[in-house]
Amino acid sequence: MIKIQNITATFGACKGVGNLSLDAAACERRYPVFGIRYSVTGYRPLVTAVYRLLLTGYWILVTGYWLPVAGYCLEANPSAGKFYARGDAKKPFFALTFDDGPGRITMDLLKLLDKYGVKASFFMLGSSVKTYPERALAVAKAGHLVCNHTYSHKNYFKLDKFPDKEKILDSEIVKAQTEIEKACGVRPVFLRMPNGYNGGWVSAVAAKNGYALVNWTYGSDWNKITPPPGQAAEAASSTKPAAPPPASNQEFGAGGGTAGGRSGGGVTEEKMTAEYLGNLKPGAILLLHDGGGKVKEKNLRIVEKLLIEARNKGLKAVRLDELPGIRQVTSGR
Ligand SMILES: [Zn+2]
Repeated sequence: MIKIQNITATFGACKGVGNLSLDAAACERRYPVFGIRYSVTGYRPLVTAVYRLLLTGYWILVTGYWLPVAGYCLEANPSAGKFYARGDAKKPFFALTFDDGPGRITMDLLKLLDKYGVKASFFMLGSSVKTYPERALAVAKAGHLVCNHTYSHKNYFKLDKFPDKEKILDSEIVKAQTEIEKACGVRPVFLRMPNGYNGGWVSAVAAKNGYALVNWTYGSDWNKITPPPGQAAEAASSTKPAAPPPASNQEFGAGGGTAGGRSGGGVTEEKMTAEYLGNLKPGAILLLHDGGGKVKEKNLRIVEKLLIEARNKGLKAVRLDELPGIRQVTSGR
């Protein structure tokens, strides 16, 4: 039996697979004059041809009137079900990714990213989006990539033994997607599993929903911070699990998904920052958090130092869909 989701259809210079959607943020950037917001999901390759034609058109004649259709930016996901954990290490780009938000520091983070003129990727929890829909929208409007991190951050290391784990994950993905689309008008194409879980069965569920899976090359901001002598401690998340397992990156071989900076008694902020800076390399996918109950302002300081260091090293922070080595999931720009 042919799985329609995996059929690749080619129309002119464009290639697409099922699960097409229109990226409102992309539309707004591409055609700011019209600012058309549009979202379509679940279309099959047969319909792709129609939208591909619209991609090149700025006006079409409909019922005697010229209507602007410039906002039709097609999103196809030829990487659905694939797993990525790093970009191309030979190109001077890296990606900043923020998980579990929107949350307490999201708006400050947006200001900081804007100050340095860079775009990042936000793996949002559906439950956080429901709490802060206006913050989620602000992320999308600022041109950052909105991604799915499931609805409620269940522990799939524990759920792994459940017979209905696929159903649970499927529902978590869809619920988060629904909240994200409601708040931002964007249908994400990247999924990051809670805790970086990458059991083999996940790919099929991700593919069914049109998602590529992305882990990270380095992250440690959840580790306990040891205050310098005489200073108040900054609470650190204790809910994060141990380091996720090594990623099985289909594009670049095994790698990624590492967590560092961990030691029994925690680390100082300086050491944590130094470890992030040490992992700032071409193709890196760095993980920090802008959501979660215990996220603190230290993440803002770490991000700023990373951006300054990136500038010194000649590295550019880009969205995951612009990171070389992650197969392009966006064909409309
Ligand atoms: Zn998370």
